[in-house]
Amino acid sequence: MSDLFDKIVSLCKQRGFIFQSSEIYGGLSATYDYGPLGVELKRNVKDRWWEAMVYQHDDIVGLDAAIFMHPKTWEASGHTEAFNDPLIDDKASGNRYRADELIEDYIRGLRMDDEQERAEAVHKRLVRALNSDDTNDALYAIIQDEEIRAPDSGAFDWTEVRQFNLMFETHMGPLKEEGSELFLRPETAQGIFVNFHNVREPVRKHVPFGIAQIGKAFRNEIVARQFVFRMREFEQMEMQYFVKPGTELDRFAEWKQKRMDWHQSLGIRPSKLRFHEHEQLSHYANAAEDIQYEFPIGWKEVEGIHSRTDFDLSRHQEYSGKKMTYYDPFEEERYIPYVVETSVGLDRTILMLLSDAYYEEEVRGDTRSVLRFHPEIAPTRAAIFPLVKKEGLPEIAHRIEDDLRDHFNVLYDERGSMGKRYRRQDEAGTPFCITVDFDTLDDQTVTVRDRDSMEQDRVAIDQLATYIHDKTATWSVDG
Ligand code: ATP
Repeated sequence: MSDLFDKIVSLCKQRGFIFQSSEIYGGLSATYDYGPLGVELKRNVKDRWWEAMVYQHDDIVGLDAAIFMHPKTWEASGHTEAFNDPLIDDKASGNRYRADELIEDYIRGLRMDDEQERAEAVHKRLVRALNSDDTNDALYAIIQDEEIRAPDSGAFDWTEVRQFNLMFETHMGPLKEEGSELFLRPETAQGIFVNFHNVREPVRKHVPFGIAQIGKAFRNEIVARQFVFRMREFEQMEMQYFVKPGTELDRFAEWKQKRMDWHQSLGIRPSKLRFHEHEQLSHYANAAEDIQYEFPIGWKEVEGIHSRTDFDLSRHQEYSGKKMTYYDPFEEERYIPYVVETSVGLDRTILMLLSDAYYEEEVRGDTRSVLRFHPEIAPTRAAIFPLVKKEGLPEIAHRIEDDLRDHFNVLYDERGSMGKRYRRQDEAGTPFCITVDFDTLDDQTVTVRDRDSMEQDRVAIDQLATYIHDKTATWSVDG
């Protein structure tokens, strides 16, 4: 794992953004809790997504479906049969790996060693293997032929490759009897598909229209050692856009661009974002691309945009016996709508924001660590400090805190030296620090220190909210 990645993980713990779940019991692997700062960051991202998808589109409405769904849902969606990853064990250590990821890491290694031709050849073989009817044997053959060793033990002693279903199973009701099995949903999308009529009819939407949802999803990932990048319990923000068959590729192109714009609107550096076409199209998709971000652990998917044809609605029609067709009153025809889906991981978005925002610099012989979040995303917009804890300065600072609370999330801090207070807020990503000093007593102005430039402005107390609004509106990733 990279140094930068380790620094982000440890800052997250120290500052109360994110820590391991049930830590006092040794932690639960690949599950994480969001602390006071993390939860604010998450809420801000969710609000922005909801605003961009639902409030900015009069043809998109929201939904909050249950995590538990009728087990037939997953037969219809294909998850019971095919939501699998190829698993391989290192016999020496007992560690488990995803066979395709082992090969991808191996290819990355070849590229780094400047063995481009060989990397390309193995990559082509991997794509063929993933698309073949006999993926397990084809992946196993690559691992054998290339003599790929286990990353942890260095051994070359593998089991066969086998498919592993990623759904978590549980039971409903007091008895663990046959037929009581349920799955924790591995994606939020199916809650949208099964509710197509329940949502559309009361709001009287016509195709094209979309349904948006934010919620938890669960996957029993084989390897999950990348902090919140790959979790076993995570949150998705998904939107399914229902369209007339034949128009889906135009909509797909539109949504691709809108989603890329959204990521940039979070203040992410454009050079760190790219589209990536799927190498293995699902049998039901006729287009699929990912938005990738260059994490400290490499270019990886943050969001998938998929043109899923009428696969899901048709399958639910087949398995439930209920009609999933739509009657188009304008063109007087009936059809099963096609679907363009945008599916972004909330936790991966958080990790992207942290990775993009984190930087260090030397200031007077000291290292300053900063999270340079877009001010609208930052957990706290402004911190208010009295220079000293006497002579009425705390009272004025508290009054400012109360006033600004109506506009933003703010906090008050009077502990430690000014330098320490600034550092704490830099690491929390707070864009503005307001200091009440002795001059304030005379002229009703305060100092506002900018997190990124560390420059200070003198601002009248009654102008603070406007000042912060203006600075927020003109903030840009390039400073
Ligand atoms: P990957 O190939 O990385 O496993 P995926 O293609 O299976 O991801 P999708 O099924 O398209 O992912 O899910 C949509 C989004 O949900 C992903 O882009 C990602 O942001 C998020 N996501 C998926 N699996 C996880 C996970 N285990 N932990 C955190 N986020 C996840």
